[in-house]
Amino acid sequence: DRDVTGEVLEEDLDVEGSLRPRRLDEFIGQPRVREQLELVLEGARRRGAPPDHILLSGPPGLGKTSLSMIVAAELGAAIRLTSGPALERAGDLAAMLSNLLPGDVLFIDEIHRIARPAEEMLYLAMEDFRVDVVVGKGPGATSIPLDIAPFTLVGATTRSGALTGPLRDRFGFTGHMEFYDPTELELVLRRAAVILGVDLRPDGAVEIARRSRGTPRIANRLLRRVRDYAEVRADGAVTLEVAREALAVYDVDALGLDRLDRAVLSALVRSFGGGPVGVSTLAVAVGEEPGTVEEVCEPYLVRAGMLARTPRGRVATAAAWAHLGLVPPPDVTG
Ligand code: ADP
Repeated sequence: DRDVTGEVLEEDLDVEGSLRPRRLDEFIGQPRVREQLELVLEGARRRGAPPDHILLSGPPGLGKTSLSMIVAAELGAAIRLTSGPALERAGDLAAMLSNLLPGDVLFIDEIHRIARPAEEMLYLAMEDFRVDVVVGKGPGATSIPLDIAPFTLVGATTRSGALTGPLRDRFGFTGHMEFYDPTELELVLRRAAVILGVDLRPDGAVEIARRSRGTPRIANRLLRRVRDYAEVRADGAVTLEVAREALAVYDVDALGLDRLDRAVLSALVRSFGGGPVGVSTLAVAVGEEPGTVEEVCEPYLVRAGMLARTPRGRVATAAAWAHLGLVPPPDVTG
């Protein structure tokens, strides 16, 4: 497991509950989504009806689950949590839906991975607050319509493009979550430090924020790594120096790249002259699956402006050469 992945790791689960912001005004960053949600929620409050169904889309670790819990808290409603992969059988979804109380929030994480029969059941539930329960098999099967309580579905997805049209159309509001900038991550870190009782100094916060790939989950994880180091090898205070030393131990460099990211860049620059080179060739060079390079490393390298995906293959930008301490050939730009 990589320290710099936005995906949730086993170790995150213990602390994430305590670090989650509880109300909208405690939620740091995402000003657009926050403002849009405020209006959606206030409108619903005034009408005394549940708000439209809400889709939150964006990379892992940006706060989609936290926001869905905030939606429920702001509505004074209960929340039930499930995920697309957990809803393999439509019967499981039918059971969840029929147990909802009026106004409840149903959160479905990774909703793009929901199985087809469950997805189709969701259409009617979202639209008419009804499920058709099929009883029996074969020609004798009958479907019994069942009313369910009016509820709000909050779906989260890392790949909104993978949602089917009919499902996407049934959400009244879509919030697009963006990566956080370093000053926002500093606030996330300072808040987490208070909750966890970490002596985080301002210059330490700046340094960790810069290396957190725009992702609160990564920021909080790196904070825990640095805290361990500060307690074992220093006096407990997380200063700039301690943060640098600690993150060097964990192989997270000044821009938040880890060993694999750097291996990819290094192969691209040193073995292929900066490209263009196909992703499969690049993957072989670093001994990884093409899918890993493509889905795990490249998105951040592209966002950090170090790698470009072109029709002819992957190309290193001037920033990539510079990051490796090399001078790019004259024809390299970007
Ligand atoms: P996602 O569902 O998008 O993967 P989560 O909501 O689980 O992300 O957030 C991951 C962790 O990051 C949470 O435990 C929370 O502590 C922290 N976090 C996310 N967004 C924020 C934020 N805006 N402010 C403070 N902490 C945040």
